This record gives sequence, C-alpha cells and structure tokens, in this order.
Amino acid sequence: MAQNLHVSFYGFMVKHLIFTKYFPVFALIGSFFVTAIQAQEHNFTVSPGEEKHILNLPATSSLKKPDLPELKNFYSVLEQTLVKRGKKKEDICDEKDMVASRILREYGSVFLVIDTALPPPVCMFSSSEDVEIFQKQLGIEKQIFDGTVIELQPVAMKALLKARTEAIFEGLSITPRDGSIAGRRGFSETLRLWNSRFEPALNYWLKKGRLTQEQADKLKALPMKEQVKEVLQLEKQGIYFNSAFNNSILYSVAAPGTSQHLALLAFDVVEFENEQVREILAKHGWYRTVQNDRPHFTFLGHKEEDLPNFGLKKIVNGNGKFWIPNT
Ligand SMILES: [Zn+2]
Repeated sequence: MAQNLHVSFYGFMVKHLIFTKYFPVFALIGSFFVTAIQAQEHNFTVSPGEEKHILNLPATSSLKKPDLPELKNFYSVLEQTLVKRGKKKEDICDEKDMVASRILREYGSVFLVIDTALPPPVCMFSSSEDVEIFQKQLGIEKQIFDGTVIELQPVAMKALLKARTEAIFEGLSITPRDGSIAGRRGFSETLRLWNSRFEPALNYWLKKGRLTQEQADKLKALPMKEQVKEVLQLEKQGIYFNSAFNNSILYSVAAPGTSQHLALLAFDVVEFENEQVREILAKHGWYRTVQNDRPHFTFLGHKEEDLPNFGLKKIVNGNGKFWIPNT
C-alpha cells in the first residue's frame, strides 16, 4: 500500500514535472492549431509574425463607422444662432429685398462666427456712420504685418497671429494683400472698391455695345442700393461686372456696406495659392467663404469638421475649396 502510494506519488510528480517543463511547448503547439483553425474559418493564411496582429483585430460587426457631420441648412442654423443672440433674421436682413437676400447667401457665413467675436448687426450697412458705430463696439486689435497696419477683432487677430507663427515655422509666410485694406475697411473703402470694378465694366460694355450711354448714365446716377440691384440684374443677362467681365462683381468685390472686412473678420492673403498656407489658416479658424474670391479669408473660429453643422457646405472648383452657405 505504502509502496503503491509511493509509486503513485512518484508517478504524479514525474507527470507533473514533465507537464510543467514542457508546458510552454504544449501551449505553443496548441495556440498554433487554434490560430490555424481560426485562419481557415476566415479564409486567409497566417505567417507566424502576423499571428498576434490578426488575433487582435476586432470582429467586423463591431467596427465603428466614423461619424459624418450633418450638413445643416444655413438659414435654420442662422435663425437658431440669432435667437440665442436675442435677434431674428428680419433684424439683420430683409429677405424680400433681392439685393439683401443675395448678399446674405453669398457672404452670410460671417454671421456664424464663434461666440467670442461680434458678427455684423446687418447684412448691408447703409452709411459710413452705421459702420463707425458698429466698429466702435469692437475691441479692435492692431498689429503691424510686414510694415502694414492690420486691424481685426481680437479673437480673429489672435488666431491669425498663431497661423503666421506656424507658417514661419514651416518656412512659409502669411502676408496682407493690398495694404491695410487686407484687414479692416470702412464704408468709403467698400464704395471705392465697388467703383473700381463697376466703372471699368460699364465702359467695357458700352464699347461692346451691350449698354447705351443713356443706360450707363442712369446706372451711375442711381442711389447705391438701387445701383447694386441693377448691376445684379444685368449680370443675369451675362453683362458681368467683375474685373475680367466674366463673373459676378460680388465674387470680386463686395457691394458697398456689405463686406466682411467691415466686421473686421476678414483678411486678404498674398499667399492664397499655397495649399499649405490655406491649411494652416484653416487650422486656426480662417476659411475661404466667398465663392471664387481666392485671396479672401473669413474668420469663423470653428473647426473645419464642424462647419457642415453650421450650415456651411464645402465646394471645390477650379479656384480651390470654399465653405459657402448651404441654402
Ligand atoms: Zn477680402
């Protein structure tokens, strides 16, 4: 009995030692078989180096699809935003007015700027005085860029300074275009810029015989808002007022009193053709939001992936990428 017990104990110890000693070998063989069976089930072959990697893959059914941002309607986002600011859409823009509604559609992104900035109170300022009153409410930040005085709303300037620093770090630069009007503008500057496109286009179409002298004189004498309206009507007939006479004047200069520059939330950039520069600006909340106005950037302060949630849609054409109101 004692001997039997001894033999049994001895046998147990021998088996135990063999198992312990060779356990890693058994485990390795076992794991190879398990892996081989799994590989067969998934119909792919496994090389030893890939084994661990494959086994860590999640099941196909649990792969999470990336959340796509919801593209919202610009007008509904605008209305909700205005409610939060204690305003209504009619307060900022008379949509029955053909010019005002067109302006909102073309330049409206600026109304969805981040809360730490002040959007313009209207889509069209009607006088220098109104612009001055609004600009006085802003804590204007002034900086000298390459010898040019640039004025912007503080939060927009802060973002632009960061973008400029990052550009320098990358061996690039972000330079103001056409002097100080790259940033802040007054009503008179928007009027002057309008005339810089309006008058040459008028002469061009006179020479082409598409307008008579009488029509041209009448157009020139119209009150500003009426003049803008007539110009937009003529453009519907292919009589364009941009610098190349082949597209709307609104993509070249803003109608007087409507520029995003009046709100100190726009900046025109010399290096607009450099994609890396555009990416750096976008990273800091600056986007091109006026279709085909290539040097013009608007400060929105939002992340690019969030822009569809703000009712802005991305369009890409021969002039690059623009985030415009989804109307
Ligand atoms: Zn501009």
